[in-house]
Amino acid sequence: MQTDYDLIAIGGGSGGLAAAIRAARHGARSAVIEPGKLGGTCVNRGCVPKKIMFNGAVIAHHLDDAPSYGFDITVNGFDWAALATARNAYVHRLNGNYRARLDKLAVTEIGGRARFLDPHTLDVAGTSVTARHIVIATGGSPNVPDVPGAGLGITSDGFFELKDQPRRVAIIGAGYIAVELAGMLHALGSDVSLVMRREHLLGRFDALLRETLIEQMLEDGISLLSGAQVTALERDDEGAIAITCDNQQQHTGFDAVIWAIGRSPNTLDLDLGNAGVDVDRQGFVITDDYQNTNVDGIHAVGDVTGRAALTPVAIAAGRSLADRLFGGKPDAHLDYTNIPTVVFSHPPIGTVGLTEQQAREKYGDAVRVYQGSFTPMYHAITRSRTAAAMKLVTLGNDEKVIGCHVIGLGADEMLQGFAVAIRMGATKADFDNTVAIHPTSAEEMVTLRG
Ligand code: FAD
Ligand code: NDP
Repeated sequence: MQTDYDLIAIGGGSGGLAAAIRAARHGARSAVIEPGKLGGTCVNRGCVPKKIMFNGAVIAHHLDDAPSYGFDITVNGFDWAALATARNAYVHRLNGNYRARLDKLAVTEIGGRARFLDPHTLDVAGTSVTARHIVIATGGSPNVPDVPGAGLGITSDGFFELKDQPRRVAIIGAGYIAVELAGMLHALGSDVSLVMRREHLLGRFDALLRETLIEQMLEDGISLLSGAQVTALERDDEGAIAITCDNQQQHTGFDAVIWAIGRSPNTLDLDLGNAGVDVDRQGFVITDDYQNTNVDGIHAVGDVTGRAALTPVAIAAGRSLADRLFGGKPDAHLDYTNIPTVVFSHPPIGTVGLTEQQAREKYGDAVRVYQGSFTPMYHAITRSRTAAAMKLVTLGNDEKVIGCHVIGLGADEMLQGFAVAIRMGATKADFDNTVAIHPTSAEEMVTLRG
């Protein structure tokens, strides 16, 4: 079949760029179709600008603690606009880096929105392009519920466009984004309410992490409004936003309300029906272990597949796919088990493998758990305290570690190495036999008792 390209990625985010770039490195003629800025969600309105804001929040905490370490400092204020400007400039540089990379590898960038005409042909703004392999990598968009006044709220996309710091903010949701934004806004000085429809947050995480984080948030002074489903937003008499909940409670006086209630796949405008690609009930593209859809030559990677919506997952899936199609590695595919993940809460959470509950449901009495809570030494002389806790979930007589969960200062940087060990099949004895690094929080992981 004569086609314009060997591979076209629809979407210039983490997954699409990874697939197109790796394909080009293998000598394939590849292209990326992207209507917006290169880098997608992660670079433009996700991980990257979020981490910059998180870093700002960490500095705010350190400034609070500085007097305890003998510093006589006066903080004259925090300039939201200055941080946002520096952050945006960094994102802009990253956009440029991606363009340079595409140019260097002769990957064609096609500006515009793609839709399928048939399994090998796409339409982009009235022009047809064809490829042997098409990779759907269109990511997702934040959900906004269908309730009166919903448009008065913003989403994480809008958060990164805020020109001024919201003084009083309500965040609706209890997942990654809600928890991360709540922690950073509070640290930077906003008055934060987190509105959760259930009694808990981070529902899919180990109970130790959830409970420790909730206690810490309450101690920090974040208002947790639990068991509250928001039914309407409206402007109050003073122009602030008021929230009405199904428990008849009303909370008012917010100058920003942020919806953080999950994301939906960007599949609606792709005309997938023209290619015959199957999606599930929520619109996620259904893929097998090799990122294949039900249609020959059409693949999907990243958030649009509804599997572990994380940047490194999208990248790894895109690269393995290109290695398999063009790199002479017919079995290359991403193993979706034991994917480590960090929540940039305050303090951060790192987790990999099964939660205790998941392990007990799957393996019953063969599961043994080791856990501990402690105060990081950083707080030995500070007035503030942040909690830290760790848990290892092990299986069978050899106590293979099948879950590792940590919350506390440094958890975000701590987990990657443990994830390698767990992937290699480390046992509790391997942890115990590893000499501790002292004095650190991480050393607690190799000294946990049952
Ligand atoms: P995306 O990066 O979303 O890219 C999809 C691209 O497709 C977009 O650029 C879009 O414009 C384009 N597109 C859509 N429709 C079309 C069309 N019809 N034609 C052409 N192009 C189209 N993950 C982490 O691992 N760590 C984090 O710390 C982290 N923080 C996050 C913070 C926030 C606030 C958010 C929202 C997400 C965060 N994520 C994080 C998740 C991460 O951003 C995503 O998992 C990742 O971006 C997914 O990559 P993707 O390639 O699947 O999709
Ligand atoms: P999540 O899936 O993490 O959480 C969604 C939250 O919204 C859940 O707490 C859910 O509650 C709640 N929710 C869903 N529907 C409603 C509703 N109608 N009303 C009230 N609450 C509702 O999604 P996020 O939007 O926070 O993040 C999207 C994804 O992006 C994450 O899953 C993650 O994969 C990725 N991400 C990764 C980050 C990282 O790696 N650090 C950071 C940010 C995002 P309930 O628990 O009750 O179901």
